[in-house]
Parts: sequence; structure tokens; C-alpha cells
Amino acid sequence: MQDLIRRLLAELGENPDREGLARTPQRVEKALQFLTSGYRADIDEVLNNALFTVDYSEMVIVKDIDFYSLCEHHMLPFFGKCHVAYIPRTKVIGLSKIPRLVDIFSRRLQIQERLTSQIADTIREKISPLGVAVVMEATHLCMSMRGVEKQNSFCVTSSMLGAFRDNARTRMEFLELIKRRGVVPSPVSEDAGLACVSD
Ligand SMILES: [Zn+2]
Repeated sequence: MQDLIRRLLAELGENPDREGLARTPQRVEKALQFLTSGYRADIDEVLNNALFTVDYSEMVIVKDIDFYSLCEHHMLPFFGKCHVAYIPRTKVIGLSKIPRLVDIFSRRLQIQERLTSQIADTIREKISPLGVAVVMEATHLCMSMRGVEKQNSFCVTSSMLGAFRDNARTRMEFLELIKRRGVVPSPVSEDAGLACVSD
């Protein structure tokens, strides 16, 4: 990877041998390995000791989870807040594991829509709850740095499954609870917008 990065620097018109860039290929490789470490993470390993059987069927919410991801069209960052809720059927996930799950899917090349649904689908698969909701609010540097659309391009995506899809009151309760900071989408948000422009 370091050779590629040296070549990339040269292609950009830089001198890869100048002092400030001497260790850049090494640093970029390390950063990229970390930012894509989600490909190599084992979800079951992360969750295995943290699924508990409970007699609890109220909404569980973990909100304002910071996340950082890379858009797959430009390999530029998009980042923001993720809010996750679910209603247990018989099982819950240890609360600290939800941000871990968000990290695993964020640390890949992504589009915001897919990232959102992967988190929701994984929770559904692992504990088959009565419902799952995931809302992500993010700024995309591929838009704001390039001056595409508004400088503060802000995208909101959501995935609502089970009770959150079928029951408007449940969905509204969740949206009210996460609304205190930031923006939330309208209940039906299939049109949450382009998470990343591809050209
Ligand atoms: Zn992009």
C-alpha cells in the first residue's frame, strides 16, 4: 500500500521524497487500515457474551453515538450521530455493544443508507426484537469540501423495522426522544436524500 501512496503523491504533483511527506505513505496506510478495520471485525465475537435474556419489552434507546465513516464514492469522510432503538422480544444486547456495532459498520467504505440498514438488520438478526430503528445524521466532506450543494450538507437516513415501521405511535415516540438535538426525518424517510454524490 505504501508504494501506491507514494505513486499517488507523485501523481498529485508532489515530491514524495520531501521531508514532510517522507513518512506519509506509512501513516496513510495505518490510517486506512484502521478506518476500514470493520471488514476484519467479527460481529459474533463482539456480541457473543453480551446477549441477555430478559423480561423487558420497553423501548431501549442509545442515542448520539458518534460515528466516522468513508464514502465509497470518494473515500472521503462522512460523520455524525447515530441513534439506535429497539423493543426486546426476549433478548437485549449489552448497551456498550451498540456503539461497537456502529463502529464495525462505519469502518468500511460505505454509503450512509447501507450503513444505516446494516446496523438495523444486524440487531434484528441477532436478537429478533419486536422492532428496530436506526437514524443517522451526517455531514459528507465529499459534498461540503467540494462545494457541492450547500456547505453544510447534512444527510439524514433511517431504517425502521417491525414495530417502528408498523406502529406510528412507537415510531413517533422514538423520534421525539432523539429529537432534542439535531434533525430527525419525517416518519417515512425513504427519500432521505443522496448520501453521497457519485460524480
Ligand atoms: Zn462521496
